[in-house]
Amino acid sequence: MKALLGGKGAGLAEMTRAGLPVPPGFTITTEACREYFAAGGVLAPDLLAEVDAAIADLEARTGKRFGDPANPLLVSVRSGAPISMPGMMDTILNLGLNDAVADGLARLTGDARFAYDAYRRFIQMFANVVLGLEHARFEAIIEDEKRRRGVETDPELPAEAWQAVIREFLALVEKETKRPFPTEPREQLVLAIRAVFDSWNNLRAIVYRKLHKIPDTLGTAVNVQMMVFGNMGDTSGTGVAFTRNPSTGENVLYGEFLLNAQGEDVVAGIRTPQPIAALREVMPEVYAEFERIARRLEAHYRDMQDIEFTIEKGKLYLLQTRNGKRTARAAVKIAVDMVKEGLIDEREALRRITPEMIDQLLHRRIDPNAPRTVLARGLPASPGAATGIVVFDADEAEARGKRGEAVILVRPETTPDDIHGLAVAQGVITSRGGMTSHAAVVARGMGKPAIVGAEGLKIDLEAETFRAGDVVVKKGDVISMDGATGEILLGAVALVEPEPDPEFETLLGWADRFRRLGVRANADTPEDAARARAFGAQGIGLCRTEHMFMAADRLPAVREMILAETPEERAAALEKIRPMQEEDFYGIFKAMAPYPVTVRLLDPPLHEFLPKYEELLLEVDRLARDPQADPARLQEKQAFLRKVRALKEENPMLGLRGCRLGILYPEVYAMQAEAIFRAAFRLRQEGVPANVEIMIPLVGHANELARLREVVDAAYRKVAEAFGAEMPYLVGTMIEVPRAALTADEIGRVADFFSFGTNDLTQTTLGVSRDDAEGKFLHVYVEEKILPDNPFVTLDTGGVGKLVEMGLRLGREANERLKVGVCGEHGGDARSIRFFHGAGLDYVSASPYRVPLARLAAAQAAI
Ligand code: ADP
Ligand code: MG
Ligand code: MG
Repeated sequence: MKALLGGKGAGLAEMTRAGLPVPPGFTITTEACREYFAAGGVLAPDLLAEVDAAIADLEARTGKRFGDPANPLLVSVRSGAPISMPGMMDTILNLGLNDAVADGLARLTGDARFAYDAYRRFIQMFANVVLGLEHARFEAIIEDEKRRRGVETDPELPAEAWQAVIREFLALVEKETKRPFPTEPREQLVLAIRAVFDSWNNLRAIVYRKLHKIPDTLGTAVNVQMMVFGNMGDTSGTGVAFTRNPSTGENVLYGEFLLNAQGEDVVAGIRTPQPIAALREVMPEVYAEFERIARRLEAHYRDMQDIEFTIEKGKLYLLQTRNGKRTARAAVKIAVDMVKEGLIDEREALRRITPEMIDQLLHRRIDPNAPRTVLARGLPASPGAATGIVVFDADEAEARGKRGEAVILVRPETTPDDIHGLAVAQGVITSRGGMTSHAAVVARGMGKPAIVGAEGLKIDLEAETFRAGDVVVKKGDVISMDGATGEILLGAVALVEPEPDPEFETLLGWADRFRRLGVRANADTPEDAARARAFGAQGIGLCRTEHMFMAADRLPAVREMILAETPEERAAALEKIRPMQEEDFYGIFKAMAPYPVTVRLLDPPLHEFLPKYEELLLEVDRLARDPQADPARLQEKQAFLRKVRALKEENPMLGLRGCRLGILYPEVYAMQAEAIFRAAFRLRQEGVPANVEIMIPLVGHANELARLREVVDAAYRKVAEAFGAEMPYLVGTMIEVPRAALTADEIGRVADFFSFGTNDLTQTTLGVSRDDAEGKFLHVYVEEKILPDNPFVTLDTGGVGKLVEMGLRLGREANERLKVGVCGEHGGDARSIRFFHGAGLDYVSASPYRVPLARLAAAQAAI
């Protein structure tokens, strides 16, 4: 009944029903809270009547009376939301005290110090939570008193000192609120209930809900509960314990305990608590009882519990139990252990691990115990931690990286031109951009940490410095970064390596048994392919060939090919590239065999392989004005400039790219297909079962695919003849423009497979250019809830998803053997994977580091 009673109230009720020692009390529901807000902050008369009845009942059960100095009932008034929001809302302890009751409590317990300490705590909490007075003003009074008496700590103050403090507290309240402190317990209670309701809307609670996507409409319950006292001498105490170690998952009771103290003291750090094991020494029976109860609670909830308890004069009371927060590592170990212990089944274990946890487990982290100086914060775009020297330029990053230096690339933003710098950097930081900006996407793909949109960094590329607050960091200075939190830190900070435990493998093994979706990886190199395989990928869903074209040793030949004036010139350039491509494919097919590798033929606009037009223009201008310059060199550059200008496009994304390149320059695709088949035949001769799928990008009309399929088939026949052998292969297409999805029946007749390229399909369906959208307007759309999510991160199921479903259905109608997958970034996003599972796709393809996450998400979708 968490929704109605809140987590705390539901836990207390359930423990009470199970016969566990819980101080008696009652819970005011979240429904009452919602009504209170709906009525504009007024407590309904029938609610007040019910509270009075419940208090009367509590008095009858405890034999104590509200406001009775001879035997007073004191209560706590505790917040408790349906979803745990630790420390975000308010709680008041010791309610029901006034001067007379405090004197009575002193007599009754024979402990005046205890009584007046409890009273002053109540005034302080009540004044803060209900009356809105600052805590610090009360602490100042206590400090004065301690100075006057020459003591250091609170417990050293005697009863008379607390009585003096109380008089000052009451005077302060009266002066500030222009009213005496409320002495009537019922009035105190009503005010406290309202204040706890209101604390649902304090700033920190609102921010917390926003961060954790908790609806603002839930409201909080209020728990009114008889006080028990852990501060009544050395047979009393208080503590908090987890039923298992929340950091490692080890199955041992783990917690802290303070003798002669109240609950809040443990958290406030006034005294250093002892490990829970110390309780065994001082109160063996109580410890044994607690251990028994802890085990029982864990078995009941079938999950690790976080338990608050208090011991009053040797008697144990339970004050709270909830599923404990834990690290990713502990979560995996606890889930797997609990299956072995028979507490939960494998499906439940899989459900308990979130995709974010998998992400955390695979990346280096900052040592959580290391001291740190935070320079700035940005968006945590790719998890993992790194330390290195700051560089501001991708070329320099590459040069230094190749010399073995650890560098962190810091840029206002990154572009595909910076990829070589990213490749060697330990991590990347940008001051602009969003979670799916180029730097973020590329870094996630590489499994490197990235922090983007760190607006606190004022980067000066000329001076090669950045400023963060008052600190200026120069090129070559050492910084650290934590991509999981978005923190940028000064200097070197100790890192810890990920060390996935055997339980991690066990869990993913279970995931593989339950999932129906295949999981492949997007990988462009043999190293990536091997890594993906180690993470459990069963094939490559997208092998991009353009990165191979970008490599420094290829670029001159690629440029020759692009700038060729005649087919003969182009053929000569292609002859240079072909053997290099063949070696690339050889390595990748070998690393993945016998699993399939989907190779996408050349896709990006050609100008991406050329220098930037504007830069070239400046260079020509410089040469033209330099009297010393060699005229031949100037002419050569001018000719180059003319060609680059001829290739310049207004809207390259919609320009000459993808299969359009193959239609205009069939010899480029023929070369690639030949290289692919040669590599595959060589491997097959060596006994390695290379498994080839060739993918044509950006097809919008079946005729495009039909035409290019002929080019591929012709290349196959040529190579097969040369090798005197045959092999099976598939030719398919990416579905990444709406027309392809709309005419998937026609395209399906000429394709062996479809792969939804959901990155481009999202751009073309929404008519939104991702690079222009993310930093500029998309975040506003998401913040203002015009869009539920960033559609480049989580599939827009209502729009793009419909095209996926339609493309799949039409394609399969035309070709029932059609294999269908997805290879956009969405292939590594848990919620999108759930959709793809439901839609009936055959597989998803994700970057290597996201393969384990995809395996888990695919299993979660299936169970
Ligand atoms: P939070 O949700 O912030 O943990 P709680 O309502 O749990 O706030 O209360 C804060 C502290 O007061 C805890 O240490 C709790 O154990 C203690 N506490 C709450 N109610 C009582 C009670 N009836 N008797 C003794 N201690 C209590
Ligand atoms: Mg608590
Ligand atoms: Mg594309």
